[in-house]
Amino acid sequence: MRTPILAGNWKMYKTAQEAKGFAVELLARLKEQPLHDKVDILLCPPFTALPAFVEAVKGSPVMTGGQNLYPKKEGAFTGEISPAMLKAEGASHVIIGHSERRQIFGEQDPQLNEKIKAAFEFGLIPILCIGETLEQRKRGETADLCRSQLAAGLQGLGSEVCDTLVIAYEPVWAIGTGENASADDAQETIGMIRQWLKATYGQEGADKIRIQYGGSVKPDNIDGYLSMPDIDGALIGGASLTPESFWQMLQKAASV
Ligand code: PEP
Repeated sequence: MRTPILAGNWKMYKTAQEAKGFAVELLARLKEQPLHDKVDILLCPPFTALPAFVEAVKGSPVMTGGQNLYPKKEGAFTGEISPAMLKAEGASHVIIGHSERRQIFGEQDPQLNEKIKAAFEFGLIPILCIGETLEQRKRGETADLCRSQLAAGLQGLGSEVCDTLVIAYEPVWAIGTGENASADDAQETIGMIRQWLKATYGQEGADKIRIQYGGSVKPDNIDGYLSMPDIDGALIGGASLTPESFWQMLQKAASV
């Protein structure tokens, strides 16, 4: 039985003060209703707000993640953040290969594989994002593309990663567009991803890995995804920015 994991990707939104305000409100709600018994809760603030958020949620079940890393411990890499730094600030997770990183910043599979390895090396749990563009979908390439992103992103990693690794299937055309994949379509692709994991890591490993759907998830559509057999949570951008809407999705996740 996999516990669902709801992760908020705050992208380039929220100052440290705003992140702290969100944390205070979320913790107050969790005190009233301890939904964390049924759903894992993760928020990924921008780097500048991460320490303040960690401090605000200290001692609570709310986890904190980075949105990216540079795969070195330290060095002359202006503007970058290392996995060791994320770990030292209290992050437990890190998003790797988000489509905005792939598309806007040109990140490619071999580099993402290095990032995944660096995350594990420094004790962070990576959320590997994969997914097709609209053109690739129209050409019927979704399954092949996802399999190739998985193979490249996880190259060289053994079944020991299955205990913690999280995969996020995020069709690029659904991110931030309000155009979400149907729950059936998401299940079809995520079911295929689990089959690939089974072929690679065996049944036991594949059964442990949590696979999220991401792409315009909101309080009014999250139930459909979470009721699917292979979908174990969501990676949420826009709708994770306000405590009220994130809370509504946590409530739904806890009740599925
Ligand atoms: C994301 O940033 O990963 C995402 C899915 O964004 P949104 O929920 O806004 O589509």
